[in-house]
Amino acid sequence: MKIHQVSKNDNIVLIPKSKGQRICFTVSDRTQKIPGLGVYNPGKLIGEPYGSCVTLGKNNYWLLPANTVDHLETLTRKAQIILHKDSAMIGFYCDIKPGSRVVEGGVGSGALTIVLLTLVGPTGKVTTYEMRSDFAKVGKNNITKAGLAGSWTLRMKDITKGISEKDLDSVILDIPEPWLAVDTAYNALRSGGTLACYVPTMNQVERLVKKLRAGSFIDIRTIETLQRELVVGAGGTRPAFDMLGHTGYTTMGRKVLW
Ligand code: SAH
Repeated sequence: MKIHQVSKNDNIVLIPKSKGQRICFTVSDRTQKIPGLGVYNPGKLIGEPYGSCVTLGKNNYWLLPANTVDHLETLTRKAQIILHKDSAMIGFYCDIKPGSRVVEGGVGSGALTIVLLTLVGPTGKVTTYEMRSDFAKVGKNNITKAGLAGSWTLRMKDITKGISEKDLDSVILDIPEPWLAVDTAYNALRSGGTLACYVPTMNQVERLVKKLRAGSFIDIRTIETLQRELVVGAGGTRPAFDMLGHTGYTTMGRKVLW
């Protein structure tokens, strides 16, 4: 078995051995304030094996490389985020993969952007249109913290007014009035490219689908994903009492030629 060790600039997660929140950060060798940990120099972790248990202060943590779920569960939230159950589905239906070129509107807290950037990888490109500087700042911080800013471009523009990128594989909209951007998305997509729009109400879905049906999108489908976690106990396994009953609906369509 090969034991991987922590290197400088790794993104790591500390998962408390007993109760508590996971802590995600980049390993630099600079003393800094790390939320949940206090003032600490992460450089002390360089060379520690992943999968080991480390003691920091009075607490014991499992030391692991941070994954996408860790980043999503520890990001700073400003706007309502698209949860992984929905973003995973968007990525799959839109066939977003290494090398894909994607435009997104808007950034919000950057949760969807983090998933898109992970899927497109270093050879792909995600460009996000955003109108509000306060969201841009929070989103940018979260994306940078996840170590994904290298394949990302932020444009401080209204996406309904036009998309400058062309021949895109996908356009993903999480804005209140996505129907206003359907024509610009159509012009920016390659033929066969996918448009996906995430909205929280069915009224928005109806208006959006009407617009898509009137245009040149086919294979239009709207999906709601419900996810329920199980509490597993010997002889007493059951669904958790709390379930997130409502997030949003995702509508997808594929561009065809007139
Ligand atoms: N998908 C994000 C949340 C987006 S919240 C996440 O998972 O974290 C919606 C964002 O869209 C807000 O930041 C808002 O400022 C931005 N927005 C709304 N209308 C827009 C438009 N016409 N063009 C660009 N951005 C827009």
